[in-house]
Amino acid sequence: MRKILIVGAGQSGLHLALGLRAHGYAVTLMSNRTPDEIRNGRVMSTQVMFHTALQHERDLGLGFWESQTPRLEGLGISVADPGHGRAVDWLGRLDHYAQSVDQRVKMAAWMETFAQRGGQLVIHGCAVSDIDYFADSYDLVLVAAGRGELVSMFGRDPARCAYGTPQRALAVAYVHGAEPRPEHPGVDAVRCNLVPGVGELFVIPALTVGGRADILFWEGVPGGPLDVFHGVTDPDDHLAVVLQLMEQFTPWEYARVLNVELTDPGGVLAGRFVPTVRRPVASLPGGGLALGVADVVVANDPVTGQGANSAAKCAAVYLEAILARGERPFDAEWMHATFEAYWEQARHVTKWTNTLLGPVPEHVERLFGAAGRLPQVADRIANGFDDPADFEDYFYDPERTDAYLARAAAASAWPGVRGARRIRGA
Ligand SMILES: Cc1cc2nc3c(=O)[nH]c(=O)nc-3n(C[C@H](O)[C@H](O)[C@H](O)COP(=O)(O)OP(=O)(O)OC[C@H]3O[C@@H](n4cnc5c(N)ncnc54)[C@H](O)[C@@H]3O)c2cc1C
Repeated sequence: MRKILIVGAGQSGLHLALGLRAHGYAVTLMSNRTPDEIRNGRVMSTQVMFHTALQHERDLGLGFWESQTPRLEGLGISVADPGHGRAVDWLGRLDHYAQSVDQRVKMAAWMETFAQRGGQLVIHGCAVSDIDYFADSYDLVLVAAGRGELVSMFGRDPARCAYGTPQRALAVAYVHGAEPRPEHPGVDAVRCNLVPGVGELFVIPALTVGGRADILFWEGVPGGPLDVFHGVTDPDDHLAVVLQLMEQFTPWEYARVLNVELTDPGGVLAGRFVPTVRRPVASLPGGGLALGVADVVVANDPVTGQGANSAAKCAAVYLEAILARGERPFDAEWMHATFEAYWEQARHVTKWTNTLLGPVPEHVERLFGAAGRLPQVADRIANGFDDPADFEDYFYDPERTDAYLARAAAASAWPGVRGARRIRGA
């Protein structure tokens, strides 16, 4: 039986650990926290996952919360105008719903499931020296420790990095008590509110430790008016600042949250990090090798809500490659090829995310504006969150954007034409 060591019990590490157990591998999973510490700790993400990533979880029988979690049928974009109204406001329909299950709920339960299914769960905050020490006893060592200190094992890949400093200051609050959304009261959706030059507010219905909640998530341009959470340590003060910024910059969202309260004291998060792509293979001091997984090797800013999706996609690619390898060695060549197979998907996420971190180009403003008039454009942008490779066709190049908008306008003028509208059932 092949022996695999996975360091880090987050989205990708647990997905891989449970997938490998299902195929009879001897898996050791090292986590720096117990399930209860995770469950009772601080939120880690907003973790909206779209269809492809959710399907990878379903394929392994891991979608435990699907029936209790709000089904996000759409994705809306609003752009604030200087008068504090909305210059753009539309809802695109997703072909398949997205969902957000608080990672505290998911990771704690998946860890317990892993142990129940015969996996070896070791609670230990691993240092490089530990990994080096254990590596000899395993056929393969995977480092899935997110953006923590172990990333330093893997060199930065400058050719694949667009930025050397954080591009957003992040602030999250999980709340109960938001009013129904007047624009579409019957449809749960991810709502992205862009405030040009200032940042973005995302509002996400989710499942958390205490049941259904709404997540309020500010992404602020560093040094700007949203970058004010440093030193705010009290959770209620944190929520008060989140709400005050909503009143100032997104009053239409603020109107829904006048009476909200935090889900729990751990329902807040603030921070920032540098979007970074790393070299996938680390050489250990004793001569062994380790392969980086998900955020360890490709950490994108959450402005496009992709990291957990990418972690699931990375885990699926790696799982398939490990199974296909059979009894042959997991050598450096195999590790590089396995990462490149994942990068083939991840590169689209990185390109799109890094584009949206800069000033919104004029042709993208045109695209977002046109989506308000052309539902099929809104739907296509929304579904791009599930498959960002689709943006290659129309997002980056002004001429391609205009050509696509001309095609979409022509199709909407002739609604009988096949493909004129992608809304399910319309
Ligand atoms: C504010 C915010 C909002 C986000 N919103 C979204 C979103 O809406 N949609 C989306 O798809 N993505 C989102 N993301 C990104 C997403 O959460 C991450 O990309 C994803 O969780 C990465 O998965 P991972 O397996 O690489 O790492 P993680 O899920 O971070 O797991 C790493 C695990 O390793 C453990 N660990 C770390 N160091 C050690 C060590 N030395 N020894 C042992 N264990 C260790 C950690 O405790 C953790 O449990 C968001 C991120 C942030 C910060």
